[in-house]
Amino acid sequence: MDSVTEKTAMLDRAPSPARLKRGRAAVCLCPGQDRCGLCAGACGFGAIEKNGRVPQVDHAECIGCGACVKACPHGNMRLVDFTKAEDTAELTLKIPKRFVKNALAELKEGELIALFPTACGDHEGGRAEVLQAHYLESGELSLRVKTARENAFVPFSVPQTN
Ligand code: SF4
Ligand code: SF4
Repeated sequence: MDSVTEKTAMLDRAPSPARLKRGRAAVCLCPGQDRCGLCAGACGFGAIEKNGRVPQVDHAECIGCGACVKACPHGNMRLVDFTKAEDTAELTLKIPKRFVKNALAELKEGELIALFPTACGDHEGGRAEVLQAHYLESGELSLRVKTARENAFVPFSVPQTN
C-alpha cells in the first residue's frame, strides 16, 4: 500500500464529525497483519467487527469506554476526543511494555512528547502534551495526551520525550 493510499485508509477509519461531537470514540489503527481480535473480544458493546482484514469500529455503537485500547497488545487502538477544546484533540493511547523506555517511564503531567508517524508521507507529526500517564498492572503505559486534531488519526511510533 503506498503512503497516500495508506493515509486515506486510516482516515476512512475515523468517526464521522457528528460522532466526534458526542465525545470519546475508539479508532483502530491496526495494520492488519495481526488480526488477533482481542480488541473485539474486549468490547462489551459489540462495536468492533473483526472479520475483515482489519478490525472495524462501529462508531454508532462505540461509547468510548477504552476497553479495546487496554486489550490491544500492540497499541493499535486509541480513543479520540474532540470535545475538550475547539482546535485540539485528546488521545488515549497505550504503549506496550516492550517499548516503554526509561525516558517514558519518567513522563510527567504537562510534559511535551514528540509524535512521529509510522508511514511515509506529508504528515510530519508534531507534539503532544501529557495530560495523564500511568502504568497498568501489566507494565504497559497508559497515556492521555492533548495534540493537534490533524494528529488524531495518524499511526505513530513510540512517542519520544523532547
Ligand atoms: S471504546 Fe469501548 S465501546 Fe468503543 S469499541 Fe472500544 S471497547 Fe468497544
Ligand atoms: S487487538 Fe490490536 S493487534 Fe489485535 S486485532 Fe485489535 S487492533 Fe489489531
